[in-house]
Amino acid sequence: MKDSLNKKGLKATPQRMEIIKYLNSTKSHPSAEEVYVYIKDKFPTVSFATVYNTLQTLKNTGDLKELSIDPDRKRFDRDLTPHNHFFCKICKKIYDIPNINEKVNIDALNDHLVEDYSIYYTGICKDCKKMNKEE
Ligand SMILES: [Zn+2]
Ligand SMILES: [Zn+2]
Repeated sequence: MKDSLNKKGLKATPQRMEIIKYLNSTKSHPSAEEVYVYIKDKFPTVSFATVYNTLQTLKNTGDLKELSIDPDRKRFDRDLTPHNHFFCKICKKIYDIPNINEKVNIDALNDHLVEDYSIYYTGICKDCKKMNKEE
């Protein structure tokens, strides 16, 4: 990760390293805003632009995946293995869903080189479903 920062001409500053550490440690698929709030707590002088640019750099070097499942904002995922996601429209949580079918077997894809794929499921997660019932 430090290498990918250097490759793109970004210095591996403590702030940037902390961003990477945070991304490695969370499964919550945070947005840029969420990463910013977390980093600002440790480095009060950090700017949103620094956080945003670091995320873009990591995305461009292939060290970070950007998810478009949340209609309100881009979310980020450090787990680069192909897997699917469930987005809860109530609590906005993103859950990892393992691939049911490891192989992509679609005729229409035959002549294409598939590098990545992901299925987005959206709806109401089990926690929110339970809460709605109890009311
Ligand atoms: Zn939910
Ligand atoms: Zn994920």
